[in-house]
Amino acid sequence: MVGAGPAGIAAACVAAENRRTVAVVDNSPWLGGQIWRGIQTKTRGGTARHWLDRLQNSDVQIFSSATIFASPSANQLLAETPDGVLEFNWKKLVLATGARELFLPFPGWTLPGVMGPGGLHAMAKSGWPVAEKKVVIAGSGPLLLAVADGLKKEGARVSLVAEQANWSEVMRFGLSLLRHPRKLIQGVGIKSRIIGVPYHFGCWPVRANGSSQVESVTLTDGSRSWTVDCDYLACGFHLVPNLELPRLLGCAVSNGYVSVNEFQLTSVPDVFCAGEPTGIGGVDCALIEGQVAGWVAVEAPDYARKLFGLRADWHRFRASLHQAFALRPELRRLATPNTYVCRCEDVRLEDLSNCKSWRDTKLNTRCGMGSCQGRICGAAAEFLFGWKNDSVRPPLFPVRASSLAGKTDALPEITAEPNISSPT
Ligand SMILES: Cc1cc2nc3c(=O)[nH]c(=O)nc-3n(C[C@H](O)[C@H](O)[C@H](O)COP(=O)(O)OP(=O)(O)OC[C@H]3O[C@@H](n4cnc5c(N)ncnc54)[C@H](O)[C@@H]3O)c2cc1C
Repeated sequence: MVGAGPAGIAAACVAAENRRTVAVVDNSPWLGGQIWRGIQTKTRGGTARHWLDRLQNSDVQIFSSATIFASPSANQLLAETPDGVLEFNWKKLVLATGARELFLPFPGWTLPGVMGPGGLHAMAKSGWPVAEKKVVIAGSGPLLLAVADGLKKEGARVSLVAEQANWSEVMRFGLSLLRHPRKLIQGVGIKSRIIGVPYHFGCWPVRANGSSQVESVTLTDGSRSWTVDCDYLACGFHLVPNLELPRLLGCAVSNGYVSVNEFQLTSVPDVFCAGEPTGIGGVDCALIEGQVAGWVAVEAPDYARKLFGLRADWHRFRASLHQAFALRPELRRLATPNTYVCRCEDVRLEDLSNCKSWRDTKLNTRCGMGSCQGRICGAAAEFLFGWKNDSVRPPLFPVRASSLAGKTDALPEITAEPNISSPT
């Protein structure tokens, strides 16, 4: 399994509980992916605790701080760790690489203090002091409210949440939650905890202001603009899937997501994909897809089929999410000629004026060549210009030269004897 988020954990538990030899590889030092990061060190019940305990009580071999960066031959992956390079030889592979926040360029978006909502929340959970700091949260998606709640708990003064989607779309999404009472209860719980924090719909940032640090943000609702003081602007326009590894392995991608069949199998034999790379659907969708992939990987498709109904429900939730938080066209016009699009390599919007495609951009500018390797600017360029970033080459992440050239520590092939137990 690549990815120790909900999807990877669910797939790993099912496979390991059926006596397969399972390795989970994740580039973070923690288990749980984006949503449950660091949770094992805190007292917490519910779904997260259930899955993290289940994983820790299994025989799954966990490789944290290990980044898969290449696949030198079929059924082989290389991971860089702080100590060297590991080589994994697999028989079945589940890709559960998750998603990242989408950042769109607007004047001032590169100022210190402007960051993704998920990123700021993660930093706050890890001890970064936000108490008494004025925070404006902007962008799109339900994550904005979850982050407002989380930052408020850490003592931040959340001035407002600016959601670019219109009220009618968000209300329709709210009504669709009647089919998912647990999500509805969660949503109502969050909303009640952030009572007093204004939630503006159809509202988005046009400029972050400040000299060496963000000091305020100018927002608009399309007809008027106003400025709000802040110490942090947490701004992200929903999520984009991490497709680099699926693409490197040759998995077909359609409409921006990995194509999978009903068994979560990609177009590449024995390669499964689950969670956010198949569609941004949230934690419950990721868990179900992971379990389906796990059951099929252990050759028990009948157990996978028992989950199809539940998965269909979460796919409906995913579709409402996509519809409600679709990005408005005005966001394509926020950047001025002088605005950086690629902040790693200081490439401005005007530098891209003669480019016709992502390939053209990479041939003619340094856009996408920096340390993020196009993860930020490539996704932005896709939204701004419709350019597809489909040329993926190893290394997927910046790695040490010694990792590219060096000796690997080979691990035993991941093999297994079938022994099917019932689904839980
Ligand atoms: C920054 C951020 C914060 C979020 N916070 C919340 C929140 O507070 N509440 C909420 O409900 N939802 C949150 N979400 C959404 C949530 O992550 C998803 O709904 C859900 O967890 C998806 O699970 P997943 O298993 O598909 O992916 P993830 O949880 O994203 O797990 C994927 C894992 O794969 C790893 N990975 C990717 N590529 C490689 C590679 N090449 N080598 C090794 N490892 C790799 C990643 O590091 C990650 O740990 C957040 C998302 C993001 C991006």
